[in-house]
Amino acid sequence: MVVIDLHTHSTASDGTDTPEQLVQAAAAAGVDVLAITDHDTTAGWDPAEAALPAGLTLVQGTEFSCAWFGPNRRIGLHLLGYLYDRDDAELREARARLRESRLHRGEAIVNNLIGAGYPITWEQVTDISAGGAVGRPHIGRALVESGVVPDVGAAFADLLSPFSPYYVRNYDQDVFDMIRLVRNAGGVTVFAHPRARRRGQVVADEVIAEMAAVGLDGLEIDHPDLAPEDRADLRVLADQFDLVRTGSSDYHGTNKPIRLAAETTTHDQYEALLSRRNTAVAPIVLTT
Ligand code: AMP
Ligand code: FE
Ligand code: FE
Ligand code: ZN
Repeated sequence: MVVIDLHTHSTASDGTDTPEQLVQAAAAAGVDVLAITDHDTTAGWDPAEAALPAGLTLVQGTEFSCAWFGPNRRIGLHLLGYLYDRDDAELREARARLRESRLHRGEAIVNNLIGAGYPITWEQVTDISAGGAVGRPHIGRALVESGVVPDVGAAFADLLSPFSPYYVRNYDQDVFDMIRLVRNAGGVTVFAHPRARRRGQVVADEVIAEMAAVGLDGLEIDHPDLAPEDRADLRVLADQFDLVRTGSSDYHGTNKPIRLAAETTTHDQYEALLSRRNTAVAPIVLTT
């Protein structure tokens, strides 16, 4: 059996393993194909590739911060882009904009918390993120460090939740634009954890239909945050719109309790995803 995990994070964003440690941990966990998908960055790609253990295949990816902009509301969502040309100018700009916004938005959340009397500093958070794309888990760790909460999960349950008075949302890229951008850069896209309800509102099936119409390639159906009923519904949608079905751990090291390969993608679905690449645009060779 081939073990395939298509969604993991390193210290290039909000994971706790360096890219080198991530690929080593994956090999040790029996993973054969690993995607590194840090938020809004490609910074982990090269160090992961340089440290790749024999027998492990690396799939270069990014988890893009996006939103669906409806007539009178917006819903934030995550789009996984794989094997796209990282030198594509438009995508490069989009990543830079998203990372920049993460910085300002992180600082705004921290200022809200400081204003309410919580003993953390922005410097503490940037020390923890250490150059990686800033996210709420870094703020969570600062709150743990300062003794406000026992663990990052507790910070997310309350102070960092979207329903918290201290929450500030990210700038997000229009999801339809992002699907087109990744596609134009030769890559493939997968809608990450499409019905992760405890992260906030989820989009309607009609939105998934529209995403498929502009070129979405797959749905991440087997994900730790998705309930069995939702997975069953999503399988029906995947069939209906000819979308690949993936499964992944969304591993974040010690920031989350999920283990590598806790959820996996089947070999035939992985092959189906690869076959949807436009290799004329981005002849990325998988590193094995
Ligand atoms: P942000 O990207 O800054 O909005 O933060 C969201 C990120 O926090 C997600 O990508 C997850 O990696 C992480 N996250 C969400 N919920 C939790 C949780 N309960 N515990 C730890 N990390 C979480
Ligand atoms: Fe994350
Ligand atoms: Fe995500
Ligand atoms: Zn993720």
